[in-house]
Amino acid sequence: MPADKGGSRALLRALRSVMAGAGDGQQRLDQVVRLVANNMVAEVCSIYLKRDERTLELCATKGLRQDAVHSARLRVGQGLVGRIAERAEPFVTDDAQTAPGFRYLPETGEEIYHSFVGVPIQRLGEVMGVLVVQNRTRRHYHEDEVEALEIVAMVISEMTEAGAFLGSEGTATGLGRRVGPLVFEGTAACDGVAEGVVHLHEPRLVVFDPIADDAATERKRLAEAMEAMRVDVDRLVEGNGLGGSGEHREIFEAYRMFAHDKGWRRRLDEAIESGLAAEVAVEKVQSDARARMERVADPYLRERLHDLDDLAHRLLRHLVGGGDPQAPELPPNAVLIARNIGPGELMDHAGKIVALVLEEGSLTSHATIVARALALPMVVQAERITRDANPGDRIVVDGDIARIDLRPEGGILDAFREKVALAEQAREIYRTLRDKPATTRDGVTVRLKMNAGVLADLPSIDASGAEGVGLYRTELQFMIRRNLPGREAQAAVYSRVLDAAEGREVMFRTLDIGSDKILPYMRREKEPNPALGWRAIRVGLDRPKLLRMQIQSLVRGAKGRPLSIMFPMAAEADEYREARGMVEGEVARLAALGHPRPESLKIGFMLETPSLVYAADRLFEETDFVSVGGNDLMQFFFAADRENERVRKRYDVLNFSFLRLLRQIVERCDRLGTALSFCGEAAGRPLEALVLAAIGFRELSMRPAAIGPVKRALLAADLGEASAAMERADQAGATSARAGLLAWAESRGLPV
Ligand code: PEP
Ligand code: MG
Repeated sequence: MPADKGGSRALLRALRSVMAGAGDGQQRLDQVVRLVANNMVAEVCSIYLKRDERTLELCATKGLRQDAVHSARLRVGQGLVGRIAERAEPFVTDDAQTAPGFRYLPETGEEIYHSFVGVPIQRLGEVMGVLVVQNRTRRHYHEDEVEALEIVAMVISEMTEAGAFLGSEGTATGLGRRVGPLVFEGTAACDGVAEGVVHLHEPRLVVFDPIADDAATERKRLAEAMEAMRVDVDRLVEGNGLGGSGEHREIFEAYRMFAHDKGWRRRLDEAIESGLAAEVAVEKVQSDARARMERVADPYLRERLHDLDDLAHRLLRHLVGGGDPQAPELPPNAVLIARNIGPGELMDHAGKIVALVLEEGSLTSHATIVARALALPMVVQAERITRDANPGDRIVVDGDIARIDLRPEGGILDAFREKVALAEQAREIYRTLRDKPATTRDGVTVRLKMNAGVLADLPSIDASGAEGVGLYRTELQFMIRRNLPGREAQAAVYSRVLDAAEGREVMFRTLDIGSDKILPYMRREKEPNPALGWRAIRVGLDRPKLLRMQIQSLVRGAKGRPLSIMFPMAAEADEYREARGMVEGEVARLAALGHPRPESLKIGFMLETPSLVYAADRLFEETDFVSVGGNDLMQFFFAADRENERVRKRYDVLNFSFLRLLRQIVERCDRLGTALSFCGEAAGRPLEALVLAAIGFRELSMRPAAIGPVKRALLAADLGEASAAMERADQAGATSARAGLLAWAESRGLPV
């Protein structure tokens, strides 16, 4: 084993000639195991690679039985090799057969070997496989030898990334996962389907020559890149508002500290010394750090792992690309693939992409809200897609069923295109319904409005046939900016919204911040339970300056036109009264200053807390309207966080208990003559919309793209029949109305 650096460099040079030489992927792998075995004076050297996320496959061996290649497999976590892949750390023993967890693969004939050393083959913390050497005799491997094997594994991972082991048909070695078709299942964030071409938000970096001849040159390159990266980071910390003060500042200072860490630099230099190119040294040190940090339980320290990753990426970009990444040109029909993305960045891509896929992300993230506003098909939580997708790959995204086909084959593409054609036909039908009122077969008319939140939404008001904007989420405008918009800027936005609505009513909801809706420039309060915390109207009343400024902006933006304002998340009548008083006071004050009074002023509240359902009648008499925020009302009713995928899905909006609550609201508003609407996500789903209408809601507000399908369902339905179907299910003891209603809808051929 070449424990000395010179020996290790000689091996690396030999590996490089394998990479540059002739032969297909399998032949190269075979050469690599032979080289390593010879250099390390080992009887066995084997490479196991991941076939899929859970399976490792023996892909090349010198010493074990050749017929086991591509047939011997084991699960990640199973046996010594599986354990190395699972933990992403080396394992050394002088007697493998007595080591805990050892699992003997009979097809390989490995029973005669005792000493064992295995290291993960990984790149930027992603384990791709395991490299193993074995000997008959019981010998102890020295730390330096393990380190040398890790260096070799690092080079193998780079060779893999650069495609050195791809078979002639792309998949021979099991490393072809980046060329064959792949299916991902995520969570549907915004419906719609799109076919296009992959565009990676953060392009993967490929190093074509992982081995360096001259360590001095590499050290110099590293020093220059480090310096450039530090300038970047300093700029970030001092820069426009991101450093800021308080908590943000602390976070960025910690980040800066990492960038200057001497230990990091030393480890990088050591890796270069062993013969690696500077880029690969960065990756190796990062992989090691990741493996160490992932074992740390402290959530704060684990969070710092992201900082480290980010710094390593920055450094790599300087090394590979020589500077700040310039976004490459977007291909036509680009599908944006990212780990995560901020709402501002997404807005920058508006009009240039046809779909969005995130590896992380959530249903209520800001990016999701913006994607919905832009009607972009979107899937979140598509695990590992940033790793497997290559720029330029063909991709189809089905936001209806949360499925992504990467590099799809002919049959899949045909089926998908058929679906797109059908969707287009349906859209054609919706277009013909655009100007028709949504009147059911038994003569009930339901007003359909749209939800909006950014100016980009507004063009849909015409296309969708919405009768107005039933919910304008004003906080989105605040969320996609880097600083608090002033009065003039806010007024200008509200004015443009009213211009675009062309006389149709817009219900402006005052700032609904806190919990899931965080303004990047506002100090985030640490709360044990933010969904039940300081948010929405509570913030508005405790920080009256902010709310007052918004009210003034709304009145100014209205320029004398009719104005409707509603408050989010009130939990008792007095909160509404105080906020209403503020609006009335501001209107009077501005009028005294010469600003035109709105031609008419409606002030209402969103019904989002069960407590308001049971408020005294007086509240319902005092308000001009009530809008049910079903998303929040449901989370509080079922005590299930709407942000938490795990519990969110447990409860059905068509649960009879919840429907009974909604019915009480309808009955009260009917009795007292209070205008009522429903603006939660459920209003935009045809079956749910039918139920809401059957319960008595006569106004629904939803995503613009949902208006067509909902209208089509309402036009075809008889609400009396829907009520009867619900009644039957309730009588039969069902928890939810869904199954019974679906059966009824199907029997009637309703498009739900
Ligand atoms: C709701 O809670 O139903 C609602 C419409 O408001 P948001 O989703 O913005 O909280
Ligand atoms: Mg809400």
